[in-house]
Amino acid sequence: MDAAFDFARRVRAARRRLDERSADALVCFPSRNLQYLTGHYEDPGERHFLFFLPAEGEPVFVAPELAAAEARATWVDDVRTWADEAGPEETLAAVVADLDLTAGRVLVDDTMWARFTQDLRALCPEATFGLASEVLSPLRVRKDEAERAALRAAAGVADEVVDRLRDRGGEFLGWTEAELAAEIKRMLAAAGGEGVAFDTIVAAGPNGASPHHRRSDRPIRAGDPVVLDFGTRVDGYPSDQTRTLVFGGDPTDRFRAVHDVVRTAQAAGVDAVEPGATTGDVDEAARSVVREAGYGDAFVHRTGHGVGLDVHEEPYVVADSDRVLEPGMVFSVEPGVYLDGEFGVRVEDLVVVTDDGAERLNRTARGWRVD
Ligand code: ZN
Ligand code: ZN
Repeated sequence: MDAAFDFARRVRAARRRLDERSADALVCFPSRNLQYLTGHYEDPGERHFLFFLPAEGEPVFVAPELAAAEARATWVDDVRTWADEAGPEETLAAVVADLDLTAGRVLVDDTMWARFTQDLRALCPEATFGLASEVLSPLRVRKDEAERAALRAAAGVADEVVDRLRDRGGEFLGWTEAELAAEIKRMLAAAGGEGVAFDTIVAAGPNGASPHHRRSDRPIRAGDPVVLDFGTRVDGYPSDQTRTLVFGGDPTDRFRAVHDVVRTAQAAGVDAVEPGATTGDVDEAARSVVREAGYGDAFVHRTGHGVGLDVHEEPYVVADSDRVLEPGMVFSVEPGVYLDGEFGVRVEDLVVVTDDGAERLNRTARGWRVD
């Protein structure tokens, strides 16, 4: 992780909120919450790897011996390890006693596996439990300058790959969706991205009509609209963007018309972004364009989602939401129209709420033509 992230400020803010809510500690397991607080991310595993942030007192990492180096590489001074042959029980019991949590209020990571929460319940029989998001979501939802810089850089890498896909254009006719997805992964890495932020979507022709389609062995044919939704990470922060392109041949008139509608809807959604507006306002701005064009029933999902360390996080841009936009929030604006048996169209950019409007993080062209 980049040293520019201010973990001390994040931890101070988290402890202030713990205190306000009369909670005694946060307990994270490998997750984006853990990354937010310590800079360390790894995939969850079966061994107890837990971070305790008490409202008062020293934060503690409990790590399996084989991951001790990763825990010690963070700012956390008190790292307590346990060996496979001994198991984590004694170490955990000591931490819980030291932090006086057995009868406290403990907020556990929202994605913590049940077996770990059950162990904590057994260790803290008198404690009450809640979710870490009570404390962390309000902090994570507003991105500071360093976070925005990372998100901007990740969006820039993805934009660059879209530009190259357009340049190569007709070369992809005859490729399968899966082959193109693999090529996109290579291109993201070559452009400076850290892997893929989520499963790449390449959905050609009628496959585009299913928003859940990932990719298949279907070849891309002339005239096919191809929904391309992918992202990468820079300094741990992801991008998420969609373009619907036609790599060669002539798409139908209906596709051309629908693509215009979706682009107009997407622009209207972005135009509605400003501090004080609600996420419901943004959804309605985009959705009303699609509805008035007669495709309201074919826009089957919310208009967008927050993007931070998690690719899907608060705030969700959903109909009738009265969540008020604040400077520093980052989310997608991604209306789509899905016509069974025909095609799908989605156009997605990330935006940051600024002091007086919105900054688009994705700047690459939004049209379907590659030339
Ligand atoms: Zn996306
Ligand atoms: Zn998205």
